[in-house]
Amino acid sequence: MSEWAEHLIWYTDGRFAQHKYFQFIVHNIISRKRALEQSTYIMKQQIGDEHMSIDDLKQRIQNGDSSIAQKILYFGASLRGTSQYWSRRAQELRALIQYQINAGKGLPSFFSTASCAEFYFAPLRRLLTQYNLQTTGEIVDLNDKKILVSILQNNSHIVSHYFNLRTQEYFETVMKTAFKVDTFWYRYEFAKSRGMIHFHGLCWRSDREPHNLLHEALKNGLDEDVCASKLSEWAQQNFAMIAMHPAGSDASGNPNKDLWPPPEGNAPAPPESKNPLFKLFMDVSQSEYSILEDHLLLTNKINLHRCSSYCLVSKKGMKHKVCRMEFGSENMQGKAIRDSPAIVKDKNGSLRL
Ligand SMILES: [Zn+2]
Repeated sequence: MSEWAEHLIWYTDGRFAQHKYFQFIVHNIISRKRALEQSTYIMKQQIGDEHMSIDDLKQRIQNGDSSIAQKILYFGASLRGTSQYWSRRAQELRALIQYQINAGKGLPSFFSTASCAEFYFAPLRRLLTQYNLQTTGEIVDLNDKKILVSILQNNSHIVSHYFNLRTQEYFETVMKTAFKVDTFWYRYEFAKSRGMIHFHGLCWRSDREPHNLLHEALKNGLDEDVCASKLSEWAQQNFAMIAMHPAGSDASGNPNKDLWPPPEGNAPAPPESKNPLFKLFMDVSQSEYSILEDHLLLTNKINLHRCSSYCLVSKKGMKHKVCRMEFGSENMQGKAIRDSPAIVKDKNGSLRL
């Protein structure tokens, strides 16, 4: 049945994929069918309880005994979405971690997460334009935000499928080469509000860093500041992770703040055509100027946080909204400014460089 549903989702004129609730009904039928075929009812009974047959059970339910419902467990670890299903997946992940430890490869080096930037993927736009032409015969202008939103909403199967392929490619190329990852695990989730696909994953680096480095530092009794600068050095060497703006400084050593975005600098917002999120890697030319321009745009647009409706949340007892990434504003002091690396706890108690 799922094969049949998949076939219909990709049906030539797109009418099943675009139907507002076809997929929910089919999903419901598939889940119910699976539930009936693959699950079992288990009744919790304690030692000393009188033994109950199915007939007794039916009788008591018919007589309106609702306490029975509390004692019945519906078990089916192969039913997607149930807590039993997810507990089985968690067991598998724990087994993978244990296997890696036993094989001498240590703990995961990275927690990796990515969301789907469906408004910015240039190849996805091209794909959607072509798909729409083939299924409806119409040529659409996806530069029009309204049209883009409706095409994305009507073709969520294309978006998820594209994101899946892109993620596989990302792990094969970027994670393996740039991040030296040789083992990884990830899972997809769909956001509660928008339903958009994203992933969370764990990655093991082939050289077991930065664990080796930190282990070595602790063994040698280095204090926290030294550990922090060693980790910072490692991050700088491997990922060019620094807190310096690529705009550099002028002849007298003052930072070129006219290339920084407000509020610290006064660079005007770049036109949408220069948005680095649209740019493909192959479109960044090898010239020094082009690379620097791309670096500046990426830093100003992506690396430097600017509060928006995405991060500003209301907090109990506070008059103004505050940034959930802990950035400061005139109403609330943010993170302390540092001039040397440090390992500090974030608001969830996790240690961060
Ligand atoms: Zn913010």
